[in-house]
Amino acid sequence: ARARALIRDWNLKHAYINGEWRAADSRETLDVIDPAKGDVIGTVPFMRTSEARQAIDAAHAAFPAWSRMLARERADILRRWRDLLETHQEDLAALITLEQGKPLDQALREVVGAIAYAEWYGEEAKRAYGQTMPATQRDRRVVVQKHPVGVVAAITPWNFPLTMVVRKCAPALAAGCTVIVKPAEDTPLSALAAAKLAEQAGFPPGVFNVVTGLPHPIGEALTGDQRVRMLSFTGSTSVGKRLMEQCAPTMKKLSLELGGNAPFIVMDDADLDAAVAGAMISKFRNSGQTCVCANRIFVQDGVYDAFVEKFVAASKAQTIGNGFVPGTELGPLINRQAVAKVERLVADAQKRGANLIYGAALPEEGFFTRPLVMTDVPDDADCFDEELFAPVAPIYRFGTEDDVITLANRVRTGLSSYIYSRDIGRIQRLADRLEVGVVGINDGTTSHEGAPFGGVKESGQGREGGHWGLEEYLEPKYLNYALK
Ligand code: ADP
Repeated sequence: ARARALIRDWNLKHAYINGEWRAADSRETLDVIDPAKGDVIGTVPFMRTSEARQAIDAAHAAFPAWSRMLARERADILRRWRDLLETHQEDLAALITLEQGKPLDQALREVVGAIAYAEWYGEEAKRAYGQTMPATQRDRRVVVQKHPVGVVAAITPWNFPLTMVVRKCAPALAAGCTVIVKPAEDTPLSALAAAKLAEQAGFPPGVFNVVTGLPHPIGEALTGDQRVRMLSFTGSTSVGKRLMEQCAPTMKKLSLELGGNAPFIVMDDADLDAAVAGAMISKFRNSGQTCVCANRIFVQDGVYDAFVEKFVAASKAQTIGNGFVPGTELGPLINRQAVAKVERLVADAQKRGANLIYGAALPEEGFFTRPLVMTDVPDDADCFDEELFAPVAPIYRFGTEDDVITLANRVRTGLSSYIYSRDIGRIQRLADRLEVGVVGINDGTTSHEGAPFGGVKESGQGREGGHWGLEEYLEPKYLNYALK
């Protein structure tokens, strides 16, 4: 009821371009669906190329004044945005649960994460430091200044519909860039709520824009326009590659947070209870729909059976259902296609000999899938290479440290990873050799707004968080002075 009231009271049915709340030129709308029930909870404008162009016009026109503002003035507005996110955290959490499906306590944690990013970049705006360095000649001086990249297009995913918007926009805005957000079509309402609060915080018209609609043709309009100087994208590797191609003709700066396929490694000497607890969080958080979710759980021979027994018990004990019901641990998947995808991957693993152990029964409506543990999964199963993005836990057996490194690195992506061991030497050896951007050590979660989050190989390029996240939106300009 709280989320529906918010949609009504905040009138979350218009997009936000140049400081105005607008319908599509065509007046057409797209439905937003509650994945736990399958019914329509709202509509947003079905915008296309012309509205995307208008947003680019606005962001381009707003850039000179915004980028020339004092960093502390931008910081003030970011801080107000942060405070408003906090004031409305319960409302925002309810909205996330309604349109995305995750349990309310996890939605609240998402909002707290969004607040942390807004806070961090409100502070970090003032630290876009340049450099000086010794010249090679006596009558020269060398100065490096930092400049905002320009207009940024931010294409965000549905799994963290609020945090992904803030994690991209806060550093971009702090740096002095103006932004056009294209939120995922499954979850546009959280982005519109963020825009409501951005408006109240006092971002000038055109600095922060949200365009709603389908990827086509908005994606092409944003990536094809010469005035957009950077694309920040979080989503699948296949779409990331396509966007990279689309950005090549205008040579945009890119920040790409793509697919994961995280290895979760449990060594013989691990604290097994801690490893099970960590695997539960890493695998089942957000019903398995995060790019850092354990996608391949590797357990060493000596503890394989003991780990599986404990993990299966914990997995079966989870409650599944509507995220608004207190105590729910697993919500629905985002849509019907997501359910179909996991069914395909599970059928393939089963065909190749994996053992299936199902947990809780399913609610009757909505896009749910049963929590599932798959044991003795062969490493040629499709889910070894593809992200499950579901509450399905494939467990693989391995023998030695070398074996597990070979298995872990035998994929085209490299984002997050997890190691459970009590031997510091072993941990360091594994961490050194894993081809990834993030290593969780005896910990199933790694999120920190000050740390550099991002991947290697086909998991993308660029980092979000900390000063690394600000640097993405800045370009160095080198000034060479002759003192004559
Ligand atoms: P996933 O559903 O795996 O998170 P997607 O990459 O399909 O990942 O979606 C993430 C975001 O990318 C969404 O905002 C979606 O609308 C957008 N998107 C998907 N396909 C395209 C495309 N061809 N061009 C531009 N944006 C796209």
